[in-house]
Amino acid sequence: MAWKKDFLLCMQRTLKTVPLGGGTASSGGSTLMNFDDCRLAYRSKTTRELLRSLLVLGFCKREFLVDHSEKFVKIGKRVLGNTLFNKLMKASFFGQFVAGENEEEIKPFIHRIRSNFGVNVILNYAVEDDEQGGEQEKSGLIKHETGKSVRQDRREQTMYSFIKTIDQVEQTTACDGFAAIKVTALAKPETLMAVTDMVERWERAMEPGKYSGEPGKLSGEDILAQLATPENGGFGSQKSLDAKLSGVRDLIRRMETIAKHADERNVRVLVDAEQTYFQPAIARLSLQLMRRYNLEKPIIYNTYQCYLKRTLKDVTAHLSLSKKENFYFGGKIVRGAYIVLERERASSMGYPDPINSTFEATTAMYKSVVQTMLEDMKAREGKTHIVIAGHNEETVHWAVSEIRRLQLPVRSRQIYFGQLLGMCDHLSFTLADAGFNVVKCVPYGSVDEVLPYLVRRAQENRGFLEKTVKERRLMREELRRRLKSGELLFNPDNPQPVGA
Ligand SMILES: Cc1cc2nc3c(=O)[nH]c(=O)nc-3n(C[C@H](O)[C@H](O)[C@H](O)COP(=O)(O)OP(=O)(O)OC[C@H]3O[C@@H](n4cnc5c(N)ncnc54)[C@H](O)[C@@H]3O)c2cc1C
Repeated sequence: MAWKKDFLLCMQRTLKTVPLGGGTASSGGSTLMNFDDCRLAYRSKTTRELLRSLLVLGFCKREFLVDHSEKFVKIGKRVLGNTLFNKLMKASFFGQFVAGENEEEIKPFIHRIRSNFGVNVILNYAVEDDEQGGEQEKSGLIKHETGKSVRQDRREQTMYSFIKTIDQVEQTTACDGFAAIKVTALAKPETLMAVTDMVERWERAMEPGKYSGEPGKLSGEDILAQLATPENGGFGSQKSLDAKLSGVRDLIRRMETIAKHADERNVRVLVDAEQTYFQPAIARLSLQLMRRYNLEKPIIYNTYQCYLKRTLKDVTAHLSLSKKENFYFGGKIVRGAYIVLERERASSMGYPDPINSTFEATTAMYKSVVQTMLEDMKAREGKTHIVIAGHNEETVHWAVSEIRRLQLPVRSRQIYFGQLLGMCDHLSFTLADAGFNVVKCVPYGSVDEVLPYLVRRAQENRGFLEKTVKERRLMREELRRRLKSGELLFNPDNPQPVGA
């Protein structure tokens, strides 16, 4: 694929510009981070964990295994049985990319990376949406606070799981971390698609032919009212319209409940961005929550996918609404995870590809978006908040230099760098050591709940996992270093400072 070539070129350029040696280093007048210090990178890992990472990342670079991961999971379960298979998973893939099965299990890990290494978390209850699950509606018995057991829609259960995640962030990180939520787990796909259609029609109507991204004031009530109009009906009977409206009402109520709870607990919520046929609905509903809950502090963050051609317009428009109405603006900036799916869908359905045509164009968009937000941060002290999420070393170098150039307060709660758990510790732990705020996106859930998430993440990041060459080299270096210096029993729960 062309983007892999682009990425490799990008990495080559990066590797040429990064000096070797400890700490930060100067090059041609600009100060660059040194992401080659293996001791710094892996000081949160025991030697056993390091060996496991090496093994797992080695497996992940094999496309064949990633492509057929769902099949391997099924065969593994059949041959080994559930208990043994789960044990194997926990000792390998699950252990690498997931912090634990429940709130109790993840506590020691969070404590380790926060207290010892200054790395915080985005806690992510790893539930998958039901796009593939079709219409099969599962529901389960849950115990209410009243002590009564009631049967509940599983999306309602997911809402409570997200609320528990918020509580967990409050308790384990003293409100310093984030909770992630996934709106596709809170509504049926057709509900989100109906809102997306309506939002897009509404945007087009606002400025025919050239939507400028002006978000206007499309509240939850407006959305419900719009959906009931004949242009947005299209569903025929009153019964189907009622069902659609009730789905949207439930979704809005669930999102409101989560946001209100987060506000009361003073925990920030990152709303994940998803496919383009859901995203306008997700972004619009989250913006609505920002307008309501970000008046005194940033509680709700939208996610902006820079592989989309429209993203800079959206960010600029949302920023300008935040200025106009004086609410806090929170944005997590990513490149975007659904490139293959988006392109296949656009081509099979015959609409223009929504994705930037090259990797360079996505990177340029990413930088423009981050720069726009950082400059806004400089101009409007305290109002703009960003999570710069990604694993691209060159882009991280660039962002660090922009933050320094603009003399922004790196230790304030306004700027965070984010990476996924199990990936790019050399970026996370080096940035944290240099005084930047860093968050690891930490999924948790039972092995059965998390497996679909792991399979999807592996497939989305297929190209990326192939590119873990540098990470594995650093891991090997660190293993050799520990062996030579007699540190094989290194205990990250009681670490010595680097350089001691
Ligand atoms: C903390 C965190 C949270 C995340 N949350 C989300 C989320 O909510 N929603 C979401 O969608 N993703 C999310 N992601 C995943 C993210 O969008 C990327 O898929 C992933 O981080 C890989 O991109 P990169 O910038 O790290 O690495 P890189 O390898 O530098 O970039 C790869 C990315 O570049 C883009 N790209 C590659 N080739 C091309 C091409 N030919 N043309 C155009 N663009 C191209 C694609 O977006 C691809 O994923 C998250 C990632 C992190 C670290």
